[in-house]
Amino acid sequence: MRYNKIVIKIGSHLMLRGEEQFLYSVAQQVKLLKDNNCKVIIVSSGAIASGLKDYKVVSKPTSIVEKQSYAAIGQPLLMNRYIETFKKFDLKVAQILLTREDFDFRERYINIKNTLNYLLKIGVIPIINENDTVVTEEIKLGDNDTLSAIVAAKIDADILIILTDVDGVYNKDPSIYKDAKIIEEVYNIEELEKQCVISSRSKFFCGTGGMKTKFEAAKICYLSGVEMIIANGIKDNVISDIVLKNKKIGTKFYTARLNSAITSRDKWIAFGKKIKGKIFIDEGASFALIKNHKSLLPVGIKYVEGKFSKGDVVSIYCVVDKKEIARGIVNYSSDEIEAIKGKKTQEIKKIYPKIKSEEVIHVDNLVLL
Ligand code: GLU
Repeated sequence: MRYNKIVIKIGSHLMLRGEEQFLYSVAQQVKLLKDNNCKVIIVSSGAIASGLKDYKVVSKPTSIVEKQSYAAIGQPLLMNRYIETFKKFDLKVAQILLTREDFDFRERYINIKNTLNYLLKIGVIPIINENDTVVTEEIKLGDNDTLSAIVAAKIDADILIILTDVDGVYNKDPSIYKDAKIIEEVYNIEELEKQCVISSRSKFFCGTGGMKTKFEAAKICYLSGVEMIIANGIKDNVISDIVLKNKKIGTKFYTARLNSAITSRDKWIAFGKKIKGKIFIDEGASFALIKNHKSLLPVGIKYVEGKFSKGDVVSIYCVVDKKEIARGIVNYSSDEIEAIKGKKTQEIKKIYPKIKSEEVIHVDNLVLL
């Protein structure tokens, strides 16, 4: 079989709209997958929506404290639905709540990975959601599309299936154009981003996703060796048809490299940690990074954006086309880079006589995108 480790992302609207029948069908298919030796992880939204529903609140919560409180009310209710429904198929589930910060620290990130792998080993289905109650802007991932892609990348999943209430990505807006068609296969996400739209019939206000976050998820998967499919979760047997029958369903995003080609540490640098700033470099330095796999030196740096410290992860952009080309861990703070940018090593030694590393980012701490 092609797929062994599978991450399934379920949005708030599906959890609410489908009610018991939808989750029953998911559990049934997960059971089938498990009987075929697949390992399944679910990333589920629906905490805030469940809390609101329980309190019969119909207006959109605006303040963060309201959202966090309804998430606190709704998360156990959500889990209860998973526990009860999955029990019917003899399946056990476990709750994992994560924030962006949990991926920022390598030790925490390794703990998450180990726990997930252990749960899978003992046959439990992990159900992941963002820890909505504790997040602040700083540590928020913000949407479960991104969260599911990061999880899929971390645990070396073979495929991420994003279940939504539309059939996939359309070549044009299907609510306007009758001849709009589903794009079945995607090899180049940037091209696609330019030309297409995803139709979103989802009106439920707790779903924070949409096209943008799905493309972000697709990019993370693309670079991490994980295939991704956006498919309609309402359709019968959609998960088992994708995984076990290899049917063409929804929009499939192919991946750039094999899982083994990008190491766990690289994934952590590229997608785990929060990006604290940007470094814009000239064409020569871009060439040295991309073609010659060299470290980033001060001489090639044109300017920086944002405030960051030594040890933070930053994005590297080519100043000519403003395209992000790499991410890496910096040896200097943003202020220090301002002082040494464009300079040769000899000149820098005059400013910082004790400097240890001449590289702003060492090649070992650099991941090309
Ligand atoms: N974590 C939120 C919830 O469970 C939803 C986030 C999202 O839909 O992307 O309510």
